[in-house]
This record gives sequence, C-alpha cells and structure tokens, in this order.
Amino acid sequence: MTAALLPYAAHESHSRGRRYAEPPSAYRGEYQRDRDRIIHSTAFRRLVYKTQVFVNHEGDLYRTRLTHSLEVSQIGRTVALALRLNEPLAEAICLAHDLGHTPFGHAGQDTLNACMRDYGGFEHNLQSLRVVDELEAKYADFPGLNLMFETREGILKHCSARNARELGDVGERFLERKQPGLEAQIANIVDAIAYNNHDVDDGFRAGLLSLEQLRQQPLFGRQFEEVRSRYPTLDDRRLIYEIIRRMIGAVVGDLIEETRRNLEREAPDSIDAVRNAGKQLVSMSAAMYEQHQSLKKFLHKHLYSHEQKLEMTRKVQAMVEDLFVAYMGDVNLMPKEFSVAARDAEKACRARVVADYIAGMTDRYAIAAHESLAG
Ligand code: MG
Repeated sequence: MTAALLPYAAHESHSRGRRYAEPPSAYRGEYQRDRDRIIHSTAFRRLVYKTQVFVNHEGDLYRTRLTHSLEVSQIGRTVALALRLNEPLAEAICLAHDLGHTPFGHAGQDTLNACMRDYGGFEHNLQSLRVVDELEAKYADFPGLNLMFETREGILKHCSARNARELGDVGERFLERKQPGLEAQIANIVDAIAYNNHDVDDGFRAGLLSLEQLRQQPLFGRQFEEVRSRYPTLDDRRLIYEIIRRMIGAVVGDLIEETRRNLEREAPDSIDAVRNAGKQLVSMSAAMYEQHQSLKKFLHKHLYSHEQKLEMTRKVQAMVEDLFVAYMGDVNLMPKEFSVAARDAEKACRARVVADYIAGMTDRYAIAAHESLAG
C-alpha cells in the first residue's frame, strides 16, 4: 500500500488532460496508461539498438539507450516514491525522455542538427515530444500516443522561444519562465545521475578510464577509500560495482533530503504552486551538486572525447550526413510512408521528414541504409 500523494504532486484530478478526450480506463490510472503506451511504442523498442555512449557492436555489456532509460526510470521511481509524488508519472517521463534520440548517440544528434541548420534544426529532446505527439501511428482516433499534459510537459526539458511559441500548451512555460511539475524535475535530474554512474562502469569496462584517474574524483574517491579499506582483497570489477552502487545511493539520498528541505521551506500547496515557485524545487545540496558536476565534466573530457571514441564519432558523422544528403536529393530512397510525405513538400518540410526518418533509425539500421546507398 503506497502512501497518499502529497498536495503538490501531480494529481490526475487536476491534470490538464489529453489533447484528444478519451474515456477513462476501467483498471488503470491515466499516468499508468501513459507509461504503458510508451512501453508499447515502436520508438521505445528501437532504443535497444541505439547508442548511449558505445556503439552497439562495440560489446554486448555496454548500456544502450534502452537500458539507460530503464536505469533512469528505476532511480526516478525511487525518488518519486520517497517524496510521495506520482510514481507512474515519473516513470512514464523517464521511459520516454530519449524516444527521439538519433542513432549513434550525441554524434548522431549533433550531425543531424548541423544538417538541419537551415530548416529549423534538430534537437533530440524536442523530437521525443514529436514522437509521442505526432510520429507514433498506433491509434485510429488520433496521431501519436495522446499522452497526458504532465507527461508531455516532463518530456520537453528545454526549448527555444521560437519552438515554444509553435508548441502551444507545453511550450507556454518556457515563454512564461515557469517550472514543470516535480515528477518532471525528478526525471531531468535522475537522467544525469544514471548516466554519470553507468558511464563510469562502461568507461572502465572499455579500458578508457582507469581506477587511478577515477580516484581523483571526490564522488568516486570517497567511496573508493571506504570500500578498499573494508574489502582490501576485492577484485577491480567487484570494487567498481560496489563503488558505483554506493555513489548512486549517496547522490540519490542527498537529492531526496535536499528536495524535502526545499519543499518544507517553500511549502507549495499544488502543482501550480510548484510551477510558479520561480526555481526548481528538486535539487541536490550545493556540495553534492558540485561533485556530481565535477564527475560529469571528467566524463566529458576523458570518456566522451576520448581519442578512441572520436574516431567512431567521425565515422558516424559522415554516415548521418551522407544519408541526409542522399534522401534530400532523392526522397524515393526512403520507405513509402516517408517518401510520399516528402515528395511534393517544400524544402524545409522535406528536410523535416528526412530528419524524422533518420532520427528513428537504430544504429544498425543506419549502417545498413548507408551501405545500401553505396551499393
Ligand atoms: Mg538520457
């Protein structure tokens, strides 16, 4: 039996609802239903073959965007439950947050964005919303998954003023400088907690990060000293696991406690009070945030920009660029559902269809599509 939601949680009864009205479900809450729709979506299944940091064929044990999303949601649910917030909503947002991601991780996203420079750009976060609002074609009565407003609000983490104006309801908060609900704030922060930790694991496994380097990081170093002194004979692999699980525990515990203090101090009485609070109420303590950011910067420098990764980055950039140029030049190279929409469209609309097609690709689908261009 779960404790009742607190007044400032997202309550279904105060939701801004769905874009297209639907009768309620007999057995499930509305946010549960959103989560289920996300899990049943095509875009969700594709995450299994999309790069997180390591391209799929680099090894079977590395995170993919699917396992990343599951780790994000697992942490998000813990935090939401501990704070007596809406767990199914936090889970739904976490599971959906990367649905719009391109193949090949950030290299893919940055390249597609560069290709789309003259046509409104490409941003994976905005694309995640586009997937659930427009691109999933699963229901007879409406486009997309017709998710609840609060789920969509959570998926859209950031947005330019120009895009915000076009998006209508979910764009408003960026123009009015308001915050999203607490479940959305949780999803945003635990995304970074999940990747900071699992990328340490993957980077170490790949041999791109060493224990000596990692020990210099305060977050890692503190747990390292503790585990080493308690288990002096532990092998490196288990040592790393033990450290990571303690790091997650430390950061998440801090996040929950600091957020509790924020909520006590600000005492919002509803989700609208949260939106109008003028700042994020879900946060780590300043000291923990500093360590978390330091680890993030470290990973940028030593893992994401590692020479060995850059080589792969250059390869996949060329691939995405080739695909974009080829499809823009001949829309009939794309499957029918895309080529028909692109055929007589003016250039910016055609480019958007091409971007939707490329963004939906898995790594291996993109590699095969690129090979078929050459052949
Ligand atoms: Mg993510």
